[in-house]
Amino acid sequence: MSKEQINTAAKWIQSARRVAAFTGAGISVESGIPPFRGPDGLWSKYDPSYLEIDYFLRNPEKSWQIIKEIFYDFFGKAEPNQAHYTLAAMEQAGLLQTIITQNIDNLHQRAGSRNVYEYHGTSGELICLACGGIIQPEKIDLDKLPPKCPICGGLLKPNFIFFGEPIPEQAAQQAVYEAHHADVFIVVGSTGEIMPASLVPTMAKEYGSKIIEVNVEPSNYTRTVTDLFLQGKAAQVFTDLGAALGLTETIARLKQNNPLQT
Ligand code: NAD
Repeated sequence: MSKEQINTAAKWIQSARRVAAFTGAGISVESGIPPFRGPDGLWSKYDPSYLEIDYFLRNPEKSWQIIKEIFYDFFGKAEPNQAHYTLAAMEQAGLLQTIITQNIDNLHQRAGSRNVYEYHGTSGELICLACGGIIQPEKIDLDKLPPKCPICGGLLKPNFIFFGEPIPEQAAQQAVYEAHHADVFIVVGSTGEIMPASLVPTMAKEYGSKIIEVNVEPSNYTRTVTDLFLQGKAAQVFTDLGAALGLTETIARLKQNNPLQT
């Protein structure tokens, strides 16, 4: 990634009418959360069938043991990184309208982003499969598995989608809206292999959006839709982009607002 490429990205963002970001697991790698796929991915350690909805419904206790370990004991300790903060600063400066994220780790919101649509749901809520109630995980004792709804006693499930479940409707609709209306799409840390999420940047490109991609290595998008490929770790690329956009102070202020950030 050259300085010239960063300046081009900054120019495109500054002159766009509407900018959307589309983020995947790669943006959270420098927060200490590995992606699912690849040699160090979570699927090299855990069996993904624990996250199939049919398996979960038949064996909730077993599924929950893995879910708790990955998504609550482990994700719970992660903090936003420079890439999350830069996107939040861009929103505050009016340079980014929406984030569509495939991530379930809540790190965009914790960095200060407001207009975030969670395409695969969130680990930050539990949903009761009997009464539909939404419960904060902090209010539930996850040492007793599977957790039960404090209102009706029904089985609780994290409010992210398991394999075999549909995309949350509001996020799916907003993704289509952004694909139609954004004139710049920033795709960060996503392989482009996860359907139907991977169709979103492709749709945006078809409707005339410029695609800026940030990734450590070429992805399906690089080969098909990307106009400007900023190769590198998300935290470093966004440090440079934040500086080119004149957002260094806003980013520092957002970090100060997060008392846990070192
Ligand atoms: P993915 O499509 O999310 O791919 C991860 C991508 O990140 C890869 O293209 C990889 O090259 C890139 N990457 C790795 N390190 C990076 C870095 N430092 N900077 C920039 N890019 C980097 O695929 P997946 O990991 O298999 O995820 C599958 C689904 O599960 C996705 O929906 C994903 O969002 C979700 N998931 C979420 C989290 C999370 O919430 N943090 C973690 C794992 C997976």
